[in-house]
Amino acid sequence: MKQIFLTQASLPDLEEYIEEIRNIWNTHWVTSMGPKHNLLEKKIEDYLGINGVTLFTNGHNALEAILNAFELKGEVITTPFSFISTTHAIVRNGLMPVFCDITEHDFNIDADKIERLITDKTSAILATHIFGTPCNVEKIEEIAKKYNLKVIYDAAHAFGVKYKGKGIAAYGDASIFSFHASKVFNSLEGGCVVCSDRVVNDYLMKYRNFGNTNGYTEIIGTNAKMNEFSAAMGLCNLRHIDTSIGKRKKLFEYYCEELKVVSGVMLPEKSESFARNYSYFPIRIDSTLLPGKRDDIFIKMNNWGIQVLRHFYPIVPEQPCYKDMFFNVYTPIAKKISEEILLLPLYEKLQIEEAEYIIKKMKELLL
Ligand SMILES: *Cc1c(COP(=O)(O)O)cnc(C)c1O
Repeated sequence: MKQIFLTQASLPDLEEYIEEIRNIWNTHWVTSMGPKHNLLEKKIEDYLGINGVTLFTNGHNALEAILNAFELKGEVITTPFSFISTTHAIVRNGLMPVFCDITEHDFNIDADKIERLITDKTSAILATHIFGTPCNVEKIEEIAKKYNLKVIYDAAHAFGVKYKGKGIAAYGDASIFSFHASKVFNSLEGGCVVCSDRVVNDYLMKYRNFGNTNGYTEIIGTNAKMNEFSAAMGLCNLRHIDTSIGKRKKLFEYYCEELKVVSGVMLPEKSESFARNYSYFPIRIDSTLLPGKRDDIFIKMNNWGIQVLRHFYPIVPEQPCYKDMFFNVYTPIAKKISEEILLLPLYEKLQIEEAEYIIKKMKELLL
């Protein structure tokens, strides 16, 4: 077997992409809010069923931009179990992250533990829909209303996810998505903010372009404009996104079916309340039943050429860059999950024979 990677970028047929970029050779318009950029912005609004999409070079810049746009101060309550980008965006905006523990069943911020972390310095909640599973958006909204806090969702994993019939970006004051090559929907690199507030969107449009408008610089912005080649990739991939999600779904269900009989392996929860995008296949290897097993699987599978990931491990406040910065972080569930979590390869073009081989090897280690 050749090396199997955790993920692989979805690509359209080469001819389709060439057709999409062909007229760039006539216009020479390669970046800075070109026609493809503007069209993609519209198409994403259509797909997500929501207005107020602002494109960015990547999801991280989108996240930094929206935190900046909301003019937050002081402390932001967030999750320690996310990609490092979530906390970096807070810190790089001069704000203080306050880590709230997660729940054992969906690995999302535990809404019942948020309130006790609120102080007179708290200005926002930044939660991640981890692995595309929606947070407890109702409870979070209730708390935010009570304390007058902004709610921002890092929806980098959740493109196309619907919760109770509505697109996931309908919840909170704003959401960001990532279109990185490793995500369900990609534009090579890319991302967006979704926000229904027009004033905020005007700010974001200036912010991504150094703060420039009409020949003057109104705000201290940055450079985070998506180029036309990325937008062209986004336009192509968006045409096939439902097929792509459908293929992931089949693999996801195959994994579940095969692994449900293996004791010590905990599968993603079934839920009627939301439509998945099958972005990842996260499992837990029970550390009480099988101590040390997660790391054993991690090492052996990778040695066999099957890339599996401990995502996210260690938790954010224990990463070397933050280790000496935060005190009194008490998030034992997040710590436990980070010691049990394992992602198996999942992408559109993963072949069923490859999935069978992955399962065979997993079972060798677990049965
Ligand atoms: C990928 C990701 C980001 C960052 O997105 P980029 O497009 O890579 O900048 C942020 N948060 C989470 C949870 C992610 O998975």
